[in-house]
Amino acid sequence: MIDLLPLGGADEIGANSYYLNIDGTGIVLDCGMHPQKTGLDSLPDFELIKDKPVDYVFISHAHQDHLNALPFFIKRYPHVKIVTTPQTRAVAELTLHNAISILKRQIDDESFQIYSHEEVDLLIKSIGYKAYNDVFEVSGYNGGKGKIKVEFYDAGHILGSTGILIQKDDFRIFYTGDINLSTQTIMSGAVIPESKVNLLITECTYGATDSNSLNNWEEEVNKFTSSLNKVLNKGGSILIPVFSLGKLQEILATLYLQMKKGKLTETDIYTGGIGNKINRVYDYNRYVVKRNETELVLHDIPQKSIYEIKNTEELFKYPAIVLASSGMVVESTMSYILAKRWLKQKDAAIFTVGYMDERTPGYKIANARRGDKIKLSDNEKETEVKCEIKKFRFSAHSRREELMQIINRLNPDNVVLVHGDTEAIDWMGSSILKLNKERKVYISETGKEISFA
Ligand SMILES: [Zn+2]
Repeated sequence: MIDLLPLGGADEIGANSYYLNIDGTGIVLDCGMHPQKTGLDSLPDFELIKDKPVDYVFISHAHQDHLNALPFFIKRYPHVKIVTTPQTRAVAELTLHNAISILKRQIDDESFQIYSHEEVDLLIKSIGYKAYNDVFEVSGYNGGKGKIKVEFYDAGHILGSTGILIQKDDFRIFYTGDINLSTQTIMSGAVIPESKVNLLITECTYGATDSNSLNNWEEEVNKFTSSLNKVLNKGGSILIPVFSLGKLQEILATLYLQMKKGKLTETDIYTGGIGNKINRVYDYNRYVVKRNETELVLHDIPQKSIYEIKNTEELFKYPAIVLASSGMVVESTMSYILAKRWLKQKDAAIFTVGYMDERTPGYKIANARRGDKIKLSDNEKETEVKCEIKKFRFSAHSRREELMQIINRLNPDNVVLVHGDTEAIDWMGSSILKLNKERKVYISETGKEISFA
C-alpha cells in the first residue's frame, strides 16, 4: 500500500513537503519553509503525520522552500534519517546557519522557537549523503515491510539538486523536486530515469507560462547583454536582484564570460554575503558533478563587496553591476534596501532575472515602468519609478513543454501535480489528459491523502 500525503506546497510554491507511506515505511520528501510567511505559518503541517511512521527525509535541493523547515522537523523527530546529495549537504550547512539571523529579525513571537547554530551543526553531521546514481536501500524501523531502493538523478536546477527515484518491489515512484531539462550557463540539463514509473510527483512552476514568452538561455543572454551595455555606456548602474543559491552563480558566470568575450562592457561587479560562500561550494564541485564551464572558478571572478561600501552613493559614481539578494526583493534584504534607492535614480536600471511571487516587492518592481507610482510594502510611501526596469527570464525550471516531455518519457500511470499555482496546475492537468485519458492525474492538496496500489 502506498499513500501520499502533502504536508505543504501542494497547490502553491511554498513550504514543500510530501509524506509517503510505503508499506509502513514513512518517507518525507523535502521539508521546505514558505518564503513569504513567518512563524508557524511558514512550516509544513507536521501535525498531519503525528500518528504515522516517520523514518526518512530525502531533500531534493537546498532552496529555502525545500529545506529550511528541516531544523524544526528534526526537533519533533530526532531519530529520523536524512539523506541528500553531498553538494546539497554542503550548501545546506551555509544556508541554514545564515537563515538564523534572518529568522531572528522576522520573528518577535516568543512561542516560535528558532533553532541555534549548535543545532545546525549537529543536524548537518547527521545528514547522510549519496552521489547521483548510487543506488541505496532503506527500510522503516517502525514496522515497515521490505526493502526500498532509492536513487538520485541530477535535476539540473541548482548545484546538488536531485530528482528522487523510489522503488518498492515493482512499484516505481519519481519525485522531480525542482527540475530543469535545459542547460544554463553553469548547470547542464536534468537526467531522468530510463524506464517507466508508476507514480510521478512533478513540479509545475511554469505550467501557466506560455513558452513563447521564454527565450532559450542563449538568446536571453544576448538580449540581457545588449540591455546592460546600453545602461552602462550611458554611465548608469544596474541592480540585479538574485537568489544567493543558483541565480547568483549563473548570472555572475554569465556576466564574466560575456565580458571575457568582449561582448559586455567591462565594469565593476558587486556581490556579497552568503552567495560568495556558496560560490566556493560550486567551485569545489566543478569536476565532481556534470556541469558546463568546468574551468570557470567563480571565486576568481573580480568582485567588489556590497557590504564594504560606506554608502550606496558609491554605487552610482561609476557604472556598476550589483548582484544582491533576495531574488524576490523581500523586505529588509539587501536587494530591497538597494531597490528603494535605485528607483529614484534616472540613469540607473533594475533588471529582474527570475520568477517573482505575486506577493513580493520584486513582482511589483518587475511589472512597473518608468513613471509608474509603486508602493513596495505597507510600511513604505508610494514612490515614482525613475529608473529603467526590464524583465529577463533565466529559468532554472523546465518550461511546460519540457515537463510534458518528462511525462511522456516516464509514462506514469499516476501523476500528482505539485509546486505550481492553480493556473499552472490546470494547464498541466488538461494537457496530460489530452494525450492520454487513461492516466490518473491528481491535484495535490495539503492534508488530503492519495492512495495508490
Ligand atoms: Zn528550487
